Amino acid sequence: GEGKEELVTDYVSKNMNNMTVNMPYQCFINGKFIDADDGKTYDTINPADGSVIASVSSASVADVDKAVAAAKEAFENGEWRRMNARERRLLMYRLADLMEEHQEELATIESIDSGAVYTLALKTHIGMSVQTFRYFAGWCDKIQGATIPINQARPNHNLTFTKKEPIGVCAIIIPWNYPLMMLAWKSAACLAAGNTLVLKPAQVTPLTSLKFAELSAKAGFPKGVINILPGSGGLVGQHLSEHPDVRKVGFTGSTPTGKQIMKSAAANLKKVSLELGGKSPLIIFSDCELDRAVKMGMGAVYFNKGENCIAAGRLFVEESIHDEFVRKVVEEIKKMKIGDPLDRSTDHGPQNHKAHLEKLLQYCETGVKEGATLVYGGRQVRRPGFFMEPTVFTDVEDHMYIAQEESFGPVMVISKFKNGDVDGVLQRANATEYGLASGVFTKDINKALYISEKLEAGTVFINTYNKTDVAAPFGGFKLSGFGKDLGEEALHEYLRTKAITVEY
Ligand code: NAD
Repeated sequence: GEGKEELVTDYVSKNMNNMTVNMPYQCFINGKFIDADDGKTYDTINPADGSVIASVSSASVADVDKAVAAAKEAFENGEWRRMNARERRLLMYRLADLMEEHQEELATIESIDSGAVYTLALKTHIGMSVQTFRYFAGWCDKIQGATIPINQARPNHNLTFTKKEPIGVCAIIIPWNYPLMMLAWKSAACLAAGNTLVLKPAQVTPLTSLKFAELSAKAGFPKGVINILPGSGGLVGQHLSEHPDVRKVGFTGSTPTGKQIMKSAAANLKKVSLELGGKSPLIIFSDCELDRAVKMGMGAVYFNKGENCIAAGRLFVEESIHDEFVRKVVEEIKKMKIGDPLDRSTDHGPQNHKAHLEKLLQYCETGVKEGATLVYGGRQVRRPGFFMEPTVFTDVEDHMYIAQEESFGPVMVISKFKNGDVDGVLQRANATEYGLASGVFTKDINKALYISEKLEAGTVFINTYNKTDVAAPFGGFKLSGFGKDLGEEALHEYLRTKAITVEY
């Protein structure tokens, strides 16, 4: 609605020296912003104060059908299909440039809608999204097959060659923790490969996706190539995963939803890639650089207020440095500035939405009931909005709920391990159903590499953490899913191989 359109404009303008912001709130289908088929809308909330930011269209099943039909038409017959790889590359660069031109606006919107502190939103959420589009733009004209000698008996009469083709209409379903960045990780690979897409942002964080839709049209993407449907997971997400004309689902979110999507996708055997939850172990040995381990260990837990899929869900600290490590962490937490995420000096913003904060408070209560020691935090911060204190638990035993389950919030879960017990701590670190990321701090390179081989996780960080890069493949093992985002491997998630044989 028009009145509501001013709301986000007000928020953003106030924080951007009254710059005018045009913000779309409708479904983006076949190159146009339109109301949901049944006219439904829902409110998106600012987690910093609980106020309504804007009212957004809530897509229906009919909208999914329209968007998929538009994406199918664009894939089969449209301008996109006729465009060569270099033109596609230029289009993606143009979109990246436009995102960069609008980076402050996008960061402000992301901060208001997701609670990310502005400085992080600008550098990571938006900055990495721009880099991701540039990285995959570069792949557009480097997608190649192979020539394969066959029938060795008559080698000069047969030839097989392979072609890498786009798959068709892809559904992309993403979570709320890094709204634009998750969009970018999947959409950029999907588009570079030549597919068309229908994307569903998380219901609670639709705004940067809609702004992105507007920028994509401005960059010149033909109608139907990119379609964005804000709305509910059970309805829009489910229907997309089941849809017979969708050929691939790229999903990031929780493990239970990932399992559900795989079931829905089985109907027409869609290709599926799943980036799911984690409970990533971080092992800290006494021979590490302690101050660095404290700083990185805190980043491993509190980055983006813990709403980080690769967050270290469990820290194993060697007995001889355990107490000093905990003392230093608490000292550092006390220096963290909690407050308005738009304030450039804030370190720690609000949790993404109310239900998530409530789940986190419950999680901490469970930890206390189980007998873990609550060293710091565990409570809601007394101010409007959905703020939670950075929290530290020690004396966490392996069987406890907080040792096994992901919090997805700012909760540090620390267990001790016996001095020198490398294999013992490895076994405990691997005793989780998840396998997304992991880390180790030690100056002993032999020990670090031995551990990196044994850890059952898609990513291992040594003497660092959260060092994700557009060129490096990202994705988990076990219940953390399969398939990769980023790097060359991600491109192949959105391609299929055709083998062509000729006899001459
Ligand atoms: P979620 O699974 O509840 O939702 C993710 C998306 O799926 C949302 O868009 C939601 O609307 C949609 N959805 C819900 N039900 C659906 C259904 N039945 N069919 C199709 N789509 C459906 O997850 P969340 O709470 O938004 O995100 C938090 C989770 O995401 C955490 O577990 C976190 O670890 C995980 N995550 C993983 C990664 C990774 O790369 N591995 C990255 C970020 C977040």
